[in-house]
Amino acid sequence: MVGRHVLSFIADDERPKVKEVMRQGREVRYETAVVHKDGTRIPVEFIVRTLERDGEKLRMTIVRDIRDRLANEARIQHLAHHDGLTGLLNRGAFMDRMALLMKHAERKGEMLALLFIDLDNFKRVNDSLGHLEGDQVLTTVSERLVGALRGSDLVGRFGGDEFVVLLTDLASRADIVVVLEALLSVVEVPVRADGRALSVTPSIGVAVFPDDGRQADELIQHADTAMYRAKARGRATYQFFESVLAETAYADLVLEAELAQGLTRNEFELFFQPQVEATSGQLSGAEALLRWRHPQRGLLAPDSFIFVAERHRLMLALGEWVMREAAATARRWREQGLTHGHGPMRIAVNLSRMQFNLDGFADTVQRVLADSGAKGQWLELELTERMLIEDVEHAPATLAQLRSLGLTVSVDDFGTGYTSLAHLTELPLDKLKIDQSFVARLPDDVGAQAITRAIVQMAVGLGLTVTAEGVRSAAQWQLLASWGCQQLQGELVGSPMPAAEFEAWVRAR
Ligand code: C2E
Ligand code: MG
Ligand code: MG
Repeated sequence: MVGRHVLSFIADDERPKVKEVMRQGREVRYETAVVHKDGTRIPVEFIVRTLERDGEKLRMTIVRDIRDRLANEARIQHLAHHDGLTGLLNRGAFMDRMALLMKHAERKGEMLALLFIDLDNFKRVNDSLGHLEGDQVLTTVSERLVGALRGSDLVGRFGGDEFVVLLTDLASRADIVVVLEALLSVVEVPVRADGRALSVTPSIGVAVFPDDGRQADELIQHADTAMYRAKARGRATYQFFESVLAETAYADLVLEAELAQGLTRNEFELFFQPQVEATSGQLSGAEALLRWRHPQRGLLAPDSFIFVAERHRLMLALGEWVMREAAATARRWREQGLTHGHGPMRIAVNLSRMQFNLDGFADTVQRVLADSGAKGQWLELELTERMLIEDVEHAPATLAQLRSLGLTVSVDDFGTGYTSLAHLTELPLDKLKIDQSFVARLPDDVGAQAITRAIVQMAVGLGLTVTAEGVRSAAQWQLLASWGCQQLQGELVGSPMPAAEFEAWVRAR
């Protein structure tokens, strides 16, 4: 070093900065770069002081090699901004970069598209195959996403199975569709779970900047809303945001708030629809059907509010209310001597899948029975096929526990799902209710005839009781009875009625 000027060690591009510090005689700590004998650049930290010695002004510099420290910092930066599993941007980093890209696009009048991606079936894979397998699926999905996109597009993972993508440099919506189609075809990951071939596919919601929002939050919210719509439309598909979606989302929010209020204000009520024996016409029980006396909108059927309650945990409270009300009614009917000739009237209660899937559901039922002084024998629970197949693990035990309490368990809307009868026979069940869509096509539709008849005969052969729903004509009744269907329910017998009306109806018979 002797004889060489200090500045000759400094990297070319750093020289002006170092010169300036020297010229000003500042005493500081700063970062710069020196050049190794072999030409490599070495990031360094300088701590500089000015000294006086024998009347001479000296500059002392402490030089520290900071290569390791910078590497560590970069790693920490990466960890802080990226998702540990997939290496994609995490939420915070994604939002930061998205904000920059939006500003840029705003200035240039360019279009951006935000894609909100949620994986279908992922929860099942994760639950049944374990987290290692689940992680593997997420990594594969992330690699394929990145592979299908351009380097200038932003890809992030918001946690779980939620991915977000910001597409840049778009000329039109048609460009977005091209990317969406590519993603749909590339991101599908086949896996085996529960001994079945499953496919993890993306459901994608799209919000376009600036049409669907000028703020990052707003765009994400709208893409999320659209994603839910894509899922509802049958998964493995995409959906562009439409402002009607926002209106629907808002209406749902209002409805949700009103539902909660309705529960505390006692606005709910059970209607009862009679069920009769097909051969004798004798009353065998009643199905409890939920109604809401909405203060402004009048009497509402469950189809107009159950789906909102189900999306939120409100369904649990509402479902428990239904059960309590049904149990109390069953008890009152018994006390009033309202029977169908052979024992007290059984009331069938519809369950939401949220209730059934909850741990300890049977315990809740037991508590409700105890609280209302009702017997299990007085109640029947209606489950859908979907509830039974979605909860293959717990369903058998829960069903067995319910039956040991004396409850009858039936499968509602049978025929609309994809369950095979064979699968159902492995479960402890009492009854099948044939969906009204089949009954409605009787007696003329030959296809409906064949299916309905096959279901009835197989079910009866398996020892299950069969009820047909939505019976509206004597011809339907006759046909069903001739095949061996034991019970009927529908307008022909009686429509759902308020409790008092139902009681009068029973007495009049
Ligand atoms: P579901 O359990 O299949 O109930 C039968 C539906 O068919 C009832 O509609 C009933 O009024 C209707 N229905 C019965 N006979 C006839 C007929 O001859 N013609 C026609 N057109 N319709 C008939 P509702 O009361 O609107 O209930 C709709 C669905 O809402 C029910 O289908 C059930 O899945 C659900 N639901 C009702 N109450 C509850 C409840 O308390 N909890 C839950 N989780 N779901 C409920
Ligand atoms: Mg039902
Ligand atoms: Mg039904």
